Amino acid sequence: MNENKDITTNWHQLGQAAVVQKLQSSEMGLASEEAGRRYDQYGPNELIEKGRKKPWRILLAQVKEVMILILLAAVVISAALQEYIDAIVIFVIVVLNTLLGFWQEFKAENAMAALKKMTVPNVRVRRDGAEQQISAKDLVPGDILLIEAGNIVPADARLIVAANLKVQEAALTGESESVDKDTGELPDAELALADRKNMIYRGTVVTYGRGEAVATATGMQTELGKIATMLQDVEDEQTPLQERLAKLGRSLAMAAGVLIVIVAGMTYLQGAGVKEIFMTAISMAVAAVPEGLPAVVTIALALGAQQMLKKNALIRQLPAVETLGGVTVICSDKTGTLTQNKMTVSDVVLPDRRYTLSEAAARHGEDADLGLLLLTGTLCNDAVIDESAPNGILGDPTEGALVLAAHQAGLVQRDLQAILPRVRELPFDSERKRMSTVHALPSSSQRATLHPVLAAGDQAQADHLVLVKGATDGLIEACGRILVSGVVHPLDERKKAEISAENTAMAKNGLRVLGLAYRLLDVDELDQPDRYEHDLVFLGMVCMLDPVRPEAIESVRLCKQAGIRPIMITGDHPLTAVAIAKNLGLTTLDTVLTGKDLDAMTVDALAARIKDVSVFARVSPKHKMIIIDALQAQHEIVSMTGDGVNDAPALKSADIGVAMGITGTDVSKESSDMILLDDNFATIVAAVKEGRRIYDNIRKFVRYILTGNAGEIVVMIAGPLMGMPLPLLPIQILWINLVTDGVPAVALGFEEAERDVMNRPPYDPQEGIFARGLGWQILVMGLIVGLISVGTGYWFWDGGEGSTAWQTMVFTMLTFCQMAYALCVRKKTQSLFSRSWLGNPVLLMAIGVTLSLQLIIIYVPFFNTVFRTTPLRLEELGSCVVGALVIILISESKKLFLRRKRH
Ligand code: ATP
Repeated sequence: MNENKDITTNWHQLGQAAVVQKLQSSEMGLASEEAGRRYDQYGPNELIEKGRKKPWRILLAQVKEVMILILLAAVVISAALQEYIDAIVIFVIVVLNTLLGFWQEFKAENAMAALKKMTVPNVRVRRDGAEQQISAKDLVPGDILLIEAGNIVPADARLIVAANLKVQEAALTGESESVDKDTGELPDAELALADRKNMIYRGTVVTYGRGEAVATATGMQTELGKIATMLQDVEDEQTPLQERLAKLGRSLAMAAGVLIVIVAGMTYLQGAGVKEIFMTAISMAVAAVPEGLPAVVTIALALGAQQMLKKNALIRQLPAVETLGGVTVICSDKTGTLTQNKMTVSDVVLPDRRYTLSEAAARHGEDADLGLLLLTGTLCNDAVIDESAPNGILGDPTEGALVLAAHQAGLVQRDLQAILPRVRELPFDSERKRMSTVHALPSSSQRATLHPVLAAGDQAQADHLVLVKGATDGLIEACGRILVSGVVHPLDERKKAEISAENTAMAKNGLRVLGLAYRLLDVDELDQPDRYEHDLVFLGMVCMLDPVRPEAIESVRLCKQAGIRPIMITGDHPLTAVAIAKNLGLTTLDTVLTGKDLDAMTVDALAARIKDVSVFARVSPKHKMIIIDALQAQHEIVSMTGDGVNDAPALKSADIGVAMGITGTDVSKESSDMILLDDNFATIVAAVKEGRRIYDNIRKFVRYILTGNAGEIVVMIAGPLMGMPLPLLPIQILWINLVTDGVPAVALGFEEAERDVMNRPPYDPQEGIFARGLGWQILVMGLIVGLISVGTGYWFWDGGEGSTAWQTMVFTMLTFCQMAYALCVRKKTQSLFSRSWLGNPVLLMAIGVTLSLQLIIIYVPFFNTVFRTTPLRLEELGSCVVGALVIILISESKKLFLRRKRH
């Protein structure tokens, strides 16, 4: 096993048996102990992550912030002016702020990395002779891998079984067309990766068929691992909001520049010295920029992602947290997401008679046609009965229902498989909407026991049997004959119409209907797959019931109430889809568009209709793209679900691509922004609600923080105008921005949702951060806070150079007013004194801590020196409390007015 590299790179040259032997494995797979030993030897099957931001890079990014650079300059200049205390204090604050920002970014980064790790796929392997699911991380060389369409290949491996296997190897070769794979030996040692058709490589995608392979290399030993360093430069993703905030920061810095010149000019005209002018300039710069804001936003988004995880929504991209809040349309699959995907067969319909399931179970012995139909259902099937599985079956629930129905009638899948071994297949795909399997026929006497038609007739020499099941409407077109009461007749148009009518009637009741058919195959047709589904003999139909999820009904209602349009997109029959959509309350209309309709429509025609169509049926994955395009053209923010390989493009182009955690393929998960761990529609709606809460909260603390900055600017401009010296020192402003504003702002991120989060329509996706009056509110409230502070300062200012108590009052007043305002911004219209006033304990704690720190700064002598404060007398402190109460009064009056207006 430990042989040299030449052998490991040329597995394709060896035969299957030789590879298995060389890797000391067997078709039964490795023994668990051996797998454990190899795990210790080779390590986990992981690529070493180089893409994760290194801590020092996060730190560097912090230090590169313009503001930090300005402050560092201030440190140097203060030192030059021999203002050593200022220099040291500003320096300490810069360091603390950098560390704080670093810590928050680092935590957010780790949180996202942890979420991404949760999506490490499980893989199916054979170990100790039995099929098992293990984490892809635990794969070792020699493991027998079982792969199927939708898998991302977890390791490099040599194929030992390949059934119609197609793999898309773009990750390695750049070729986006899928290539056919087989198991044959390839003697040429120099073969390029793209031509090694008997090998599969980590990171490539199985797009069709299934196969088995023995793992030859894992982790960094794989071909992908060898080039992994090239792939891992992940770009730094900023959410739209973060981008807008960064832009805001830059504009504020520019505005600060202008203000600095004005204020410095004013202080100069008042006859101030160089030092004072300089201090004023720095103060102004510091006052204008909300230093704490970017970190607070990042942490709010990351915390949001964690909250969503608690509700079973796994966020893969941080921007999704924000986008979710703005979703206007939720497109959802039907089966499993809106319904329970617990299929049970209700009726079996033969061309001239029908049975309920229990009748069918009792009668199949007497009715050979029924027996053949049930046999077709259970053999043209990849599901198996497994007592230990949650619903008693392993595999697709639609198929499971057929196996169980046959089983109830005494037809044991495994026994039948022994008599009619499967030799070829055309797997189910959502494009064709049917599946065929080819079976070798036994001797003609044994055939007759299965059904006389298999032994008799002009095809008695045929040695293979094709079994087909699929959507009746399509299947019927592939049928040329029909089995009625033991005799094969030609299938005429009249009969076809009858079958369609019956199909329609059942679909109307919300049942899923599958048609079944068979055909005998001559040996020379065995290798012509396009012959399999040709001139089939129609056997009948099976109806299945799939109850809707009760919680989906409530979620659909919630969506509508919240101005979000739920849309059902399904591969199922249009009538089945409409019936279920009505059950869910998703629509009251019969309007439905099918994939065929979509193909025939122009872009404009669809644009005109899409506003009032809520159900799309018989669509294939490519139609999802058409639907997304049409919706996005109307500026909708679209969330789209998907689970199959072909859904990947739709998941990528939707604003929020949602993959299924349980039934979804690896590929769909990789392409998604969010994964539903429970496959449940209700989870999407819960995530949207959470997204709205977070967006609301971000606006709350943006408003809170910027009001603080506005107040400081007002103080800084009004002070000199009123003839006062510098009212706030740079270190005091830094203190307010980072501690007084920063700490409660983080706590505001924990604020519970507003009562009406899901009672209002989504906000306009194009709106800026200052939309809906936010900008004005910041300016007005900033003006009030600033004027109260500077006014109080003026009142206590003795006009001389003696006591600095008035400065401490301006400083404290600002802090107290901000604390009061933090309580006010919690709710938009609800009174601060309503029942939920204790609703955010984190915020109350943050305010308590901040107030205590402020008192320490005022009353502890050491800090008096550092922050240039003077202990306030009781009445002075009292005035600050009154100032805070004024803020509360103003805000409460405004809320009262708003509430009145609403009623
Ligand atoms: P969705 O999950 O998108 O709501 P769906 O599960 O109903 O829809 P598909 O799985 O694409 O959609 O199935 C489409 C149609 O194909 C079904 O209505 C059924 O007639 C047929 N079909 C589904 N599963 C199978 C299967 N395993 N074998 C054969 N035909 C199938």
